[in-house]
Amino acid sequence: MATKSNCYCCGKTVTKGYAKRHCLSHNYTDSDCENCALLKIEDAYDTDYWLYVDIGLKNTLRDLDGFLRNIWLECCGHMSAFYQKHHEKIPFSRKMNSFEEGSVLLYDYDFGSTTTLKITFVGQTTRKKQSQKNSVRLLLRNEPFIFKCSCGKTAEYFCNECDWDDDYPFYCKECVEKHENEVEHYPLPVVNSPRMGVCGYTGEHDTYTFNPDDYT
Ligand SMILES: [Zn+2]
Ligand SMILES: [Zn+2]
Ligand SMILES: [Zn+2]
Ligand SMILES: [Zn+2]
Repeated sequence: MATKSNCYCCGKTVTKGYAKRHCLSHNYTDSDCENCALLKIEDAYDTDYWLYVDIGLKNTLRDLDGFLRNIWLECCGHMSAFYQKHHEKIPFSRKMNSFEEGSVLLYDYDFGSTTTLKITFVGQTTRKKQSQKNSVRLLLRNEPFIFKCSCGKTAEYFCNECDWDDDYPFYCKECVEKHENEVEHYPLPVVNSPRMGVCGYTGEHDTYTFNPDDYT
């Protein structure tokens, strides 16, 4: 499955191969601009979940941690950590300007049912200066996947227990009720995140759903 993404600057659809070039095409160079690190962020095991973001060079890993929790991860306030090669922990206070282009970090959210992300420093961008609150800017995000229930309708729930048992895990609204009554399983909503179905993740902090109407 080669996934495309939506551009949050212009609304276009972008393939992964053109992602960096496309992001750089939105560079802004007036006097009120700031320099940023351009990051590719992927699920470490399923790279069809991917984002491109830029973040001010003076901003820190703590800022990035907050963003990742909101868009993809936060369920019950688990611990998280960034790592460099050889599983060396990196402090949250590290600034973006301390990483070289080409650096690759790993990031774990939740040390029990862990979601692991891979973060690559792919280049630098310039953008209009942002407030600290908006220090991480979403540029590209993979389009949501459409899953079908076995009845043919669009699935709205994912059952982690079924997935573990190698049973088909996707259910529509009607079938999920039947499923819950039949077995003691607790399916979770289908979400555009590598943490779908894990722990209690429901995507409630994800306010980044792409809306094509914003660009017409
Ligand atoms: Zn664009
Ligand atoms: Zn949790
Ligand atoms: Zn189930
Ligand atoms: Zn169904």
